[in-house]
Amino acid sequence: MKFVVDSMLGNLARWLRLLGYDTLYFKRIEDWRLINIAREDSRVLLTKDLSLYRKAVKKDVKSIYIESSDIVEMLATIAKELDIKLVFDESNTRCPLCNTLLIRVTKAEILHLVPQEVVNKYNIFWKCPKCEKVFWQGNHWNTISKILEEVNSKLSMVGRDATH
Ligand SMILES: [Zn+2]
Repeated sequence: MKFVVDSMLGNLARWLRLLGYDTLYFKRIEDWRLINIAREDSRVLLTKDLSLYRKAVKKDVKSIYIESSDIVEMLATIAKELDIKLVFDESNTRCPLCNTLLIRVTKAEILHLVPQEVVNKYNIFWKCPKCEKVFWQGNHWNTISKILEEVNSKLSMVGRDATH
């Protein structure tokens, strides 16, 4: 499952990359280009633009209209529409900045690249082979787990409703 998102969904793109999904995002791009990329590269087009959504559907491009601006709602909508599970897998996570698969690295490999306090405090590190940025399982981690928990509880509630 691969995605391309419109220019209003930068935050969502970073989330999908974190969750391991190959996701393209452009700050500025014409609608027809987005539709072409989605079609040629078999990507699901995610958009907040209803007219772009309609154009994509007309061209037989798989597209999801994202109404909400809330990240939990957005992720839940995608998971439900595509019937996919959203989980964090530390061996399959992408650079939020450039979409490249991150590589797990040891502390020794990043000692000179991050502040000493980070080295002392955290144990799981990744490096982007393309933009060379280092990421670690830091404080924001709790937020990520919490958001995924909310997404999954929202989905299980939807599932329960459907059975009644
Ligand atoms: Zn990168």
